[in-house]
Amino acid sequence: METAQEQVQEQLIPIAEISSMNDEDVIDAFSEQDKNPPNKNPTTSSDDMVFGKNFKQRLESQSYKIIGRHSAVKPCGWTKKSIKGEGGCYKSQFYGINSHQCVQMTTYLSCANFCNFCWRDMTGKAHSDFVGEPDDPKMILDAAVEGQKDLLIGFKGYGKADKKKYEESNFPKHFAISLTGEPIYYPRLQEMLDYAHSKGATTFLVTSGQAPEQMRKVTPTQLYLSLDAPTKELLEKVDRSINKDSYEQLLGSIDALKDARSRCRTVVRITCVKGHNMVEPEKYAELVLRANPLFLEVKGYMFVGSSRQRLKLENMPYHDDVKQFALEIGKHCGYDLIDESPISRVVLLMRKEDLSKKMLPRC
Ligand code: SF4
Repeated sequence: METAQEQVQEQLIPIAEISSMNDEDVIDAFSEQDKNPPNKNPTTSSDDMVFGKNFKQRLESQSYKIIGRHSAVKPCGWTKKSIKGEGGCYKSQFYGINSHQCVQMTTYLSCANFCNFCWRDMTGKAHSDFVGEPDDPKMILDAAVEGQKDLLIGFKGYGKADKKKYEESNFPKHFAISLTGEPIYYPRLQEMLDYAHSKGATTFLVTSGQAPEQMRKVTPTQLYLSLDAPTKELLEKVDRSINKDSYEQLLGSIDALKDARSRCRTVVRITCVKGHNMVEPEKYAELVLRANPLFLEVKGYMFVGSSRQRLKLENMPYHDDVKQFALEIGKHCGYDLIDESPISRVVLLMRKEDLSKKMLPRC
């Protein structure tokens, strides 16, 4: 049990140090503050009608580059660290992606949930499906690559950057489609994934589990499903979805993930929020068994970004808390601890017979 003094000290850790402790979302959360707050009284645009007043401008002020009508890109903190020669993210350790050649992006800016642990900007409108006209998939991917290049240009003459890595960053090999919102709502997503794969890149796609039908239509390299609670009651409390049938949608997504395993690598991801959802490990295990994923990633909530308005520092589990809880889940469903990254407070579990599939095949 940490003392109050330890808690205060933890809060006082410099941002640069904390950012080296966690994954992409956490590092990004520190830059989610508005640098140039948008004009408070602009005229109402069609974007405002779809995503909420000033939402795109707010994202731009937080260093997102908006692409077309519904997509965005923003370099991950680990991409920048990797270019500086300061190491890669846990997905580079677990699966072998190159963090400096990763493009973090989304193909849809809104999602259906208001998860209490989410550190992203939650001021936009929630959607339970795609709204408007879908943009061209090649345009989105190409613009994401160009946008990322623009946003990383500062490393070109930066003395502390690894020159080779900076140059390689101009040729992405991985797309992390998870930046914000619910990217799977984009109806032409598979065309974009195919385009990325045709360039020899890998794709990781994350869904919050509110779009099972769309899950059945896509084949990324690795498909993630967030599992935020073990029961209907808790899911409704934690995810606060606008969908009245959010638990049924989650169960449908679990079944869709199970079916996806024959065509791509699949992951169940649990974000542990101490005092909220770190309960009933055997019920999590039942859902994991039903989803039958190749990987089970269990990670800790971090007290950063907009989530600080809803949660407290003590809701952030230590790496050991996360690991013990993951082991408990694994015990009930036959998944073993395979890898861990204390710096990101995340552990990886797999079935022993799948071990040879851990690393991505080189593309
Ligand atoms: S996969 Fe990409 S976006 Fe995710 S943590 Fe690694 S570098 Fe960042």
